[in-house]
Amino acid sequence: MSMEERARRERSLQQAAARASACRACAIGAQRRNNVYGEGDPLADLMLVGEGPGETEDRLGRPFVGRAGELLEKMLGAIGLAREDVYIANTVKCRPTLQGERGLKNRAPNPSEMANCRPFLDEQIEIIRPRVLLALGAPAAKSFLGPAYAITKQRGRWERGPLDIPLLVTFHPAYVLRQTGGELTAVKRLVWDDLKAVRSRIDELRASVSAGTARQVELFEGAPVVE
Ligand code: URA
Repeated sequence: MSMEERARRERSLQQAAARASACRACAIGAQRRNNVYGEGDPLADLMLVGEGPGETEDRLGRPFVGRAGELLEKMLGAIGLAREDVYIANTVKCRPTLQGERGLKNRAPNPSEMANCRPFLDEQIEIIRPRVLLALGAPAAKSFLGPAYAITKQRGRWERGPLDIPLLVTFHPAYVLRQTGGELTAVKRLVWDDLKAVRSRIDELRASVSAGTARQVELFEGAPVVE
């Protein structure tokens, strides 16, 4: 895709991020330090959607930059992708918190926060139009597939995401980090299966686009020249 298209998408994302940053539809909008809109390649084939910013992300204004982010980068690396090759966003753009004994703690976003933020996520997907969407964890899965979605039973199957984009759900890296022993081995194996499925789907979709382009060129080459 062209440099012009990259620049157009970058502009659209900047404008959308400014609108998201001005949003105060939820109480967490007034508490957070930064609106963590998302980042990555605006022409990415793969878009990842996490849960919501945690403490580190809120402080730095960037998604997945804490421990979960480190693991996410290793997961991507295992299928030959760098962080810069994909686009990373979250179901909600403000950090969901609750008051703990020693200050604010992270929590999962609630359904109304997810609903309020969904237009921003949809707009992001529409601008980037990735070939594949990967939802990380239950909140992202529920935002796309409804509140009854059961990640342990249903993950790993191809679903239809917004704009009919193929969508796969896998476990959130933070969930993987919380596992130990045999559970950890089992969860890692499932995530690895999901990552391989994502890699194959991207490769298939890329191959079918280049085959289509080659066919068009052939047809065009056979066409009579009109002067
Ligand atoms: N977990 C998420 O879901 N998103 C982030 O950005 C960081 C941690």
